[in-house]
Amino acid sequence: MARVLLVDDLAFIKRIEKRVLEGSGHEIAGDAKDGLEAIAMYKQLKPDIVIMDITMPHVNGLEALKKILDFDPKAKVIMCSAISHEKVLYQAVKAGAMEYIIKPFTTERLVATINEVLQN
Ligand SMILES: [Mg+2]
Repeated sequence: MARVLLVDDLAFIKRIEKRVLEGSGHEIAGDAKDGLEAIAMYKQLKPDIVIMDITMPHVNGLEALKKILDFDPKAKVIMCSAISHEKVLYQAVKAGAMEYIIKPFTTERLVATINEVLQN
């Protein structure tokens, strides 16, 4: 079981993530709509895992990832974006993201990725 922070500017994506994760026994620690909120909420909530969108207003997912890792080098962040952002996904993994999920994702892929990251 993990406490997960969901980060996406689209509410419906977070609703899907919430339903899938709660359905597989995980807990939603909180949700953020942009990178700025994500950084603040990470510091406040100390979630086990973050699922991070890339394209968001104010502070994007890559910048938020870097800020969170500056604060907590052991942070477990999974990037979640469309394949059209493949290059940014690569940059994110280089910067320290543990995994990535391509949108649109399947329930199985999301659950498998969370469980994989939890074991690391
Ligand atoms: Mg977005």
